[in-house]
Amino acid sequence: MKHETFGRMELLQGDITGLQVDAIVNAANRSLLGGGGVDGAIHRAAGPQLLAECKTLNGCETGEAKITAGYRLPARHVIHTVGPVYRQRPQDPQLLAACYQNSLELAVARGLKTVAFPAISCGVYGYPPEKACAIAVDTVKAFLQQDHGLEKVLFVVFADEIYRIYHDYLTAGGN
Ligand code: ADP
Repeated sequence: MKHETFGRMELLQGDITGLQVDAIVNAANRSLLGGGGVDGAIHRAAGPQLLAECKTLNGCETGEAKITAGYRLPARHVIHTVGPVYRQRPQDPQLLAACYQNSLELAVARGLKTVAFPAISCGVYGYPPEKACAIAVDTVKAFLQQDHGLEKVLFVVFADEIYRIYHDYLTAGGN
């Protein structure tokens, strides 16, 4: 499994559910009641108490974020955010940027120091990975530059192809 460090950002290939961080971010849907992809993997690994807590949250709008405990996960918390469906809003990068921004703001509000993101919207929500990666890295980088006390933000990806896209963009310095 590949792992590289770019200042306070890290790129990692692997399963986000195995990470021992303050929070992993879930690419959820608006119901927050579970789904496929990374959402399904997180609920399976966290156990049924996660769904029970999610049921109390009344869903989540696209671009917003809500936090729960991590239950059986090694991560202490899960931040649930809802990415945009690309074919519905292809010209609107703000919603995907808002997922990263709102997740990070929530983490900081709770005093968390280490946060791991999957490639939000890059699965069934169909966002082109090059575009999604640029939005993810630019938003996280700008947030870290403001120094909110975050120690580390990890980008965790599965596929070799998406790893390469992040690697190239981070190596080029983003923006
Ligand atoms: P979305 O609905 O936001 O598109 P998906 O879960 O379908 O979310 O996919 C988002 C990305 O997460 C995809 O690139 C997918 O390969 C990846 N992914 C799926 N499972 C995991 C996991 N356990 N750890 C890290 N990334 C994952």
